[in-house]
Amino acid sequence: MSLKGKTAVITGSNSGIGLGIAREMAKAGADVVLNSFTDRDEDHALAAEIADETGVSARYIKADMSKGDECRALIEQAGRCDILINNAGIQNVDPIDKFPVEKWDAIIAINMSSAFHTTAAALPMMRAAGWGRVVNIASAHGLTASPYKSAYVAAKHGVVGMTKVVALETAEEPITANAICPGYVLTPLVEAQIPDTMKEYDMDRETVIRDVMLARQPSKEFATVEQMGGTCVFLCSDAAAQITGTTISVDGGWTAL
Ligand code: NAD
Repeated sequence: MSLKGKTAVITGSNSGIGLGIAREMAKAGADVVLNSFTDRDEDHALAAEIADETGVSARYIKADMSKGDECRALIEQAGRCDILINNAGIQNVDPIDKFPVEKWDAIIAINMSSAFHTTAAALPMMRAAGWGRVVNIASAHGLTASPYKSAYVAAKHGVVGMTKVVALETAEEPITANAICPGYVLTPLVEAQIPDTMKEYDMDRETVIRDVMLARQPSKEFATVEQMGGTCVFLCSDAAAQITGTTISVDGGWTAL
């Protein structure tokens, strides 16, 4: 599968799943645009490294996905967007009556509304190019719930709903929109939850991973960022041209329970 000549914009891609997806898209031949809200030398160095390793064109563009105008500016600055991967996301864990309002607002903005803004900006480019793929990185929490993750679960369910709408609005065009629903993937976002969970349950790291995090993941293994990237590449392939408006779970069986 060659994605040569296509440009993929991946939001929130200087770390974790987004970076893994950018690497797999580049390996498949797509030019890539990396993004986050920082503007450090190491952010730009990641793009340079991907370009060196794969020979594609890779750029890093700073844009804060909590701000609608910056989401749209990211796509405009990219100049071309055949493949849009909405991946930027944050987490906060608190009971709903103690959930900080600013965390709720940030999670809804970054995890859900950003995909509205980037999609709105990217669709005209896809239509002009006569081909397009929107891949939203939702979550098993876009299909099921866990306590203490009200904003995250609401945002991810919202993303799954919006994915279906985009698919229907583009159904007669050579454009598809789908959501990937990962289970637990060991990234900085998940690492950050381990210390609090160890404290909360008075458990060591290994026990937290096995008995708390992977308790609902029947495979008892983390999914990997490479698997997320590979699933994105598949969704960009001709074999996936009639797959639209749906979710693909990469969750070790979590949502089969
Ligand atoms: P991560 O913390 O490693 O990466 C998140 C990325 O989003 C980073 O690049 C970060 O810089 C970026 N980001 C955060 N706030 C931003 C903002 N305001 N503007 C632009 N970029 C911003 O986390 P991850 O685990 O790789 O998560 C990536 C996506 O996958 C998220 O949407 C997350 O909800 C989803 N997801 C992760 C898991 C998992 O187990 N790791 C499971 C299901 C879904």
